[in-house]
Amino acid sequence: MQYTWNDIKQHVSACTLCPLSQTRHLPVMGRGDHQAGLMLIAEAPGNQEDQQGLPFVGRSGEILDKLLQDCGLTREEIYITNIVKCHPPSNRDPKEEEKKACFPYLKYETFLLKPRIIVCLGRVAAQRIISPDFKITSQHGAWTYRKDCSLTATYHPSAILRDPSKYELVKGDFDDAVKKLKQNTK
Ligand code: SF4
Repeated sequence: MQYTWNDIKQHVSACTLCPLSQTRHLPVMGRGDHQAGLMLIAEAPGNQEDQQGLPFVGRSGEILDKLLQDCGLTREEIYITNIVKCHPPSNRDPKEEEKKACFPYLKYETFLLKPRIIVCLGRVAAQRIISPDFKITSQHGAWTYRKDCSLTATYHPSAILRDPSKYELVKGDFDDAVKKLKQNTK
């Protein structure tokens, strides 16, 4: 059976497949342009996202918007989602069983979007999507190629909140991704 974007959204909004369903306020489906060539994948919704049911609406979202703007893009031109769609209590890392339960939603999102470029935001996403031993400190900005998609990872915007000196480094990784996107449009 071929699911649509709306089907996935409805499944996510009623999902009880893992224990995060018991503590979340609202599930957070991915958001953006369903024709986008660039997909950003982070680890999980934060507190503000949990309250509003939207991805990247807190202070990390403001940093993300600035990064995109400085690279000549807007949120409306990309698609952004998370490995798990429900907020883990106290912002802890999602557990293995939670990532496993939620992964089919991400697979459907990726299948429908067919992105040319995937940028993982942070260690958890990079280790789930690119390689289990991926190290953001030494491997951020490195590229992997799978079928028709180029994949890389950089720091999560929340790392910039903790250490503003990381901004230029992350911006450099975003610039590379945008350059690749322009060379490789749908
Ligand atoms: S995190 Fe994913 S699998 Fe777990 S309840 Fe939320 S939507 Fe379902």
